[in-house]
Amino acid sequence: MRITKTLGEYLLGAGALAEFPRVLSGRADGPTDRVVYLFDHFFSEGGLAARLPIKKHDTVRYVDTTDEPTTEGIDALVAELSVGAPIRAVIGVGGGATLDTAKAVSNLLGNGGRAADYQGWDLVPRPGVFKVGVPTLSGTGAEASRTCVMMNHEKNLKLGMNSDHTVFDRLVLDPDLTASVPRDQFFYTGMDTYIHCVESLGGRFRHGFADACSDQALRLCREVFERGDMQNSENRERVMIASFLGGSAIANSYVGLVHPFSAGLSMVFHTHHCVGNCIVMNVMDEFYPRETEEFHEMTERQRVRIPTGLCRDLPDEEYRALYDATIIHAKPLANALGDDFKNVLTFDKVVEIFRAM
Ligand code: NAD
Ligand code: ZN
Repeated sequence: MRITKTLGEYLLGAGALAEFPRVLSGRADGPTDRVVYLFDHFFSEGGLAARLPIKKHDTVRYVDTTDEPTTEGIDALVAELSVGAPIRAVIGVGGGATLDTAKAVSNLLGNGGRAADYQGWDLVPRPGVFKVGVPTLSGTGAEASRTCVMMNHEKNLKLGMNSDHTVFDRLVLDPDLTASVPRDQFFYTGMDTYIHCVESLGGRFRHGFADACSDQALRLCREVFERGDMQNSENRERVMIASFLGGSAIANSYVGLVHPFSAGLSMVFHTHHCVGNCIVMNVMDEFYPRETEEFHEMTERQRVRIPTGLCRDLPDEEYRALYDATIIHAKPLANALGDDFKNVLTFDKVVEIFRAM
């Protein structure tokens, strides 16, 4: 049994961003305290930065989220930010990619070394710099989780810094910030919460707190995606809360089959996390029959297109690469199918599933 850390302090509600100065109070609000603001590149236009109390000696960077964060990219950013006055706070404003970037940067500023040194479990020795998350896209749970996922091209793996020190110190949860998200993206990322909870509840490992969070997050997802306009203001707040609960659930339990297959797509085709999960969930009838049907109903109700045909006719070596990048995720696969998961997920079975996508 381990001592569990959950995120303690947050501001929630439409318009919460206006209260942002309060989250720095007592931590980084002195006249000379330097704060680093990392915004998703979408916000390089539109004036969002002007709504924050940015001082002239603070640093603002726009994170290019065209591709998911890499260890090399994080190292380069930290090297650049380290020049100048000490940094008292790191603020991440964006979706999962930007929030993860802020978490990784904070850990490295507090501990030195390189991003790859801390990919794994409980390898971050000391707290990082005070960090605040401001999600602008809901679903990954990155705002609540104890990890920050990065691609490591040298080692050909995608892994986070799983550590209590990775958890944000404070959050600003303002559903107004997700109003500009394109519909498909809003659905794909929102579904990450649904899938986290389905996988967690469908697994063998049980944790009372995780189960309770998952149950509640699923209820909110159903309210949002099975009815009406998923992006109206009430629903944007519901997805924001569901994402937070789903991230808290997964921090105390495990995913199942969808994430390993999605990681396979991500390693071989660089498919982004959330759309990759949807591509996989679309064909999970055999393993999560009721939930796959429900997923189809939600895609139809929201009139969102899930890409298909991605893996239909590939050369053998690509199927081999997909198999290897999927089957390596032993913990979630064992959570879903038991320790002898390789008896179910034979090479041929895995290829059949990828072909169906
Ligand atoms: P993202 O951060 O990759 O952003 C997706 C797109 O949405 C980008 O083009 C971005 O510019 C745009 N966007 C973001 N906010 C917007 C807004 N308000 N208006 C318009 N456009 C906006 O997307 P994501 O799905 O939130 O995150 C995926 C990332 O999260 C992956 O890198 C994945 O590895 C990571 N992840 C982390 C965890 C965790 O626990 N740390 C869990 C799951 C996924
Ligand atoms: Zn996920």
